[in-house]
Amino acid sequence: MTARILIVEDEEPLAMLLRYNLEAEGYEVETAARGDEADTKLKERTPDLIVLDWMLPGLSGIELCRRLRARAETKTLPIIMLTARGEESEKVRGLATGADDYIVKPFSVPELLARVRALLRRANPERVAAVLVIGEIELDREKKRVSRTGRAVDLGPTEYRLLEFLMERPGRVFSREQLLDGVWGSEIYIDERTVDVHVGRLRKALNRGQQRDPIRTVRGSGYAFDDRFGKAI
Ligand code: CA
Repeated sequence: MTARILIVEDEEPLAMLLRYNLEAEGYEVETAARGDEADTKLKERTPDLIVLDWMLPGLSGIELCRRLRARAETKTLPIIMLTARGEESEKVRGLATGADDYIVKPFSVPELLARVRALLRRANPERVAAVLVIGEIELDREKKRVSRTGRAVDLGPTEYRLLEFLMERPGRVFSREQLLDGVWGSEIYIDERTVDVHVGRLRKALNRGQQRDPIRTVRGSGYAFDDRFGKAI
């Protein structure tokens, strides 16, 4: 599961440039050209980070930032604010409004990418780690390989993404709908029972010849990666 980034920027060439470079780094990118449009998008789906321009039509970056901080779901959402040169005092206001970082235009793309990486690492270290390890299960994101007790586990692409999604947030229970959204993507319509089918396949592959099942079924709620897995019983 790659990190999702929302770019809110009304200068189209800049938005395109950022999208291109962030996608090249492997992030999933969405853009909005207006503050109010971004606000609507953010109510539907929370990204992992937002790159937010200061001056925007519809709703200013500052106002949007203030609103995001006031909402429980986006209270800690990492925000990088873009400001124009000469708005030095405004930078201070930006941080006071709750942005995590700011960058002055014009800036270099590598600098922005470095800030994005740093902020994501700080906000969610497991999101950027190359290898996720929980107990005897290892998931290597670079090689896209999974192993248990050192032995390779053969997974299909959907089972792999499902396991990655769950391992990134051990202990957290996800509904079928949340899993569809996070693993399959919100634009695709799939029956929620599809999730059960893939969880079944994941379990089968993962638990072959093993005693303990790391995937927990929470009746009436959904699924979780057992956060007690890997700890002594
Ligand atoms: Ca602008």
